[in-house]
Amino acid sequence: MFELITLPYGSKDLEPVISAQTLSFHHGKHLQGYVDNLNKLLPGSGMEADSLELIVCKASGGMFNNAGQILNHNLYFTQFCKGGSPLKDGFLKSQIVKQWGSVEEFQKEFVAKGVGLFGSGWVWLSAKKDGSLVITQEPGAENPITEGLKPLLTFDVWEHAYYLDYQNRRAAQLEALWQIVDWSVIEERYAKNW
Ligand code: MN
Repeated sequence: MFELITLPYGSKDLEPVISAQTLSFHHGKHLQGYVDNLNKLLPGSGMEADSLELIVCKASGGMFNNAGQILNHNLYFTQFCKGGSPLKDGFLKSQIVKQWGSVEEFQKEFVAKGVGLFGSGWVWLSAKKDGSLVITQEPGAENPITEGLKPLLTFDVWEHAYYLDYQNRRAAQLEALWQIVDWSVIEERYAKNW
């Protein structure tokens, strides 16, 4: 059985980028719903003892959709902190600068790919086995681990992630999210073996 993750910050800590109201619905209702749905589908599936990552790689249909959305949201919600934390000089920053020329150029492409994703889904920064980085657009509940990539950073472009605060202005939400990204978490994910 899976449990709803506890947020590593207070309900108002991400304001004004993400309001307490959005956080309450997004974490307390949407993510809770995916957790409840997956727990109902688990018994008899043969995947009762599997990790979330393994279920995402093996499952299809409703099991995949709910497990994928839990994994995606767990990575999303744990990558933020009050006021954000800077991307320091190190392996991740130098790889970003090597591939995009600057952190600003990387951020521009990341937001453009999020804005350009048709319908609901996620924009991801992931690492390949050789350490190089790639930005991908994933529809629905998809996660780059199913393509053999290591997910590092993600912005949720489902409307439920921003509609209460930004209405239809997806780009405004994505541009604002940089203010609260905890880059130390992204650096840890990049450095972690997998
Ligand atoms: Mn969401």
